[in-house]
Amino acid sequence: MIAEEIRKIHSILPSGVELCAVSKFHPAASVMEAYGAGQRIFGESRVQELLEKVKVLPSDIKWHFIGHLQTNKVRQLIGLTSLIESVDSIRLLDLIDKESERAGVVTNVLMQLHVAKEETKFGFYPEELLEFFAQRRFECLKSTHICGVMGMASNTDDMNRVREDFHTISNTRRRILELAPDLRGFDIVSMGMSGDWTVAVDEGSTLVRIGTAIFGERHY
Ligand SMILES: *Cc1c(COP(=O)(O)O)cnc(C)c1O
Repeated sequence: MIAEEIRKIHSILPSGVELCAVSKFHPAASVMEAYGAGQRIFGESRVQELLEKVKVLPSDIKWHFIGHLQTNKVRQLIGLTSLIESVDSIRLLDLIDKESERAGVVTNVLMQLHVAKEETKFGFYPEELLEFFAQRRFECLKSTHICGVMGMASNTDDMNRVREDFHTISNTRRRILELAPDLRGFDIVSMGMSGDWTVAVDEGSTLVRIGTAIFGERHY
């Protein structure tokens, strides 16, 4: 089942769009099933769970951290991820940079945007992020590479609203590049989950994060 879903999604994803298989709350055996079908990028949202999976799973897996990252957990995570997708404050960004420098590694990150109508979603408002780049505050980073943006659409059946949210995310990246045309490798637009990823791809996603459609329901 899992392998079949992985193959199906890969066969319909346009070239240039990557799949992050969101394995949070699913056992290592499920990850191995997806791995067997060729999947290499996996997403986790809790540091402890990621640490446990890293220990027992193949070393060529690219782990993406996609959850809200508490500052007291940053040190444990540094060096284990290929991408931290969920940088939602300057304080967190600065800490990731400091801990990466200390560990002698470069950490790839995405800046998380808040565009959904729910109050509970973490992230920067588009204008805040534009200001960050206009002020060229990324230039003081020593060991962190900002590779793009990540975001979630509103949790609604109104597909017009969902499309609008994805458009805002994708357009924010474009506007940032206009403000700072010398930014290198600012290419990733991570958006789209099980229920809305085809709309996200339409609106310019380069990385979809799919959990439930691959692994089934999560049991929290
Ligand atoms: C859990 C999660 C996903 C996957 O959601 P599904 O609806 O299960 O596909 C994607 N992105 C983030 C940030 C998540 O926390």
